[in-house]
Amino acid sequence: MPDPSSLEKNFYELLMKSQYWPARQLLEYQRSQLSQLLEHARKNVPFYQSRLAPAFSPAGHIDWNRWEKIPILTRKDLFDHRDSMLAPAVPPGHGQTRDHWSSGTTGMPVTVTHNGLAALASRAAMARANTWHNIDPSKTSCDCTRGGREFALWPEGKLGGTWGPAWDEKASGRVWHINRQATPEQLVRFMQEKGVAYLGTRPKTAHAAALEALRLKLPLKLDAILGHGTGITEEEIEDCRRAFGARIVGLYSSTECHKVAHPCPSCENYHVNAEIALVEIVDDEGRACAVGTPGRVVITPLLNTAQPLIRYDQGDTAITGEPCGCGRTLPVLTRIVGRTSHLFRLPDGRRLSLSVPPALKKPLGTETWQLAQVAPLSFEVRYVEYLPVQPGAEDNIVRNMREQLGEAIKVRFVKLDEVPLTASGKFMENVCELP
Ligand SMILES: [Zn+2]
Repeated sequence: MPDPSSLEKNFYELLMKSQYWPARQLLEYQRSQLSQLLEHARKNVPFYQSRLAPAFSPAGHIDWNRWEKIPILTRKDLFDHRDSMLAPAVPPGHGQTRDHWSSGTTGMPVTVTHNGLAALASRAAMARANTWHNIDPSKTSCDCTRGGREFALWPEGKLGGTWGPAWDEKASGRVWHINRQATPEQLVRFMQEKGVAYLGTRPKTAHAAALEALRLKLPLKLDAILGHGTGITEEEIEDCRRAFGARIVGLYSSTECHKVAHPCPSCENYHVNAEIALVEIVDDEGRACAVGTPGRVVITPLLNTAQPLIRYDQGDTAITGEPCGCGRTLPVLTRIVGRTSHLFRLPDGRRLSLSVPPALKKPLGTETWQLAQVAPLSFEVRYVEYLPVQPGAEDNIVRNMREQLGEAIKVRFVKLDEVPLTASGKFMENVCELP
């Protein structure tokens, strides 16, 4: 078998060309990959033996017009049917398999098995996006995405190897790991000491760090935040620019589906990695949404032969867009709303994404808060107080929340010493704590 690093380089070079292929050529490439995955799954993976039948003609060919008849796969399916979803063996050349654990924010942990080829292709897609955004692999990066009781604890952290592509001789930059449970202050002090150019983390974590750096007046400059996650807000972009002089380069990825989409270097769009994943935006019946209409993100990673995920509902919402003006033919998502904030559940059955204007934070003497639903009609505003509360600040917030959630809600204000994080170290602005 050829050297994996040269295979990865070849795939990267293919991706640099395929991003401009005519849409028809891209679709044909995708379907040829998809056909191989479906044939493999139907033949070898017990879970899919009858599940894929609706997409096949009586003669045994895939009928693409019937693709949407394949049932959508849920996180609960991954949880309940893990064993029958595994392939006993992967096709030749698809590499070693490895298990990955994902906690998710929905509280249903799942394990998924990936094969080496899918991971290699995902790295090549990441390298393509880094090229789009002039991310220089010779510079030092800080990674704040991993947790664990012993891993890379503050203040020492842990120096890892090079983080750029193994095939790129210029990729000499190394990565400093810091445990994602580090506080915002610890994180900014760590980056300052290590002199890093990039920070890889969730946008909310970067935002908390930016606010802390501003509060402490720490002169810390970064080239870019490599934001793992989506739904990056204007406020996060602006505060990271003010604190670090840094742009945020988003990344839409998941443990289950690898790198899914990256921001266009020329505009606000995201481009789907169509060469390694089929991404559908569908309605409640599993049918494609029209351009501009929000729908559920359903993903089929094309190279995951170890544990095929065919039409997997990622649990996110996104909107597809018209072809991009940059000339890349890769499919466009104009907006992706991730799961980093919970929706609130009202007694009348409504699920609401509460959005209290950031301008109401300052009068409360804070820059960071968490809005929590603790009972059907009871909410808490948890905040870290940096300055004294101004008169009327609490009333204005309560009024705004009542406008969105109804007059019947009760709101309690709770001062905290630190920014609250979830058990897995994520910062969530909106949390629903109902059972
Ligand atoms: Zn574009």
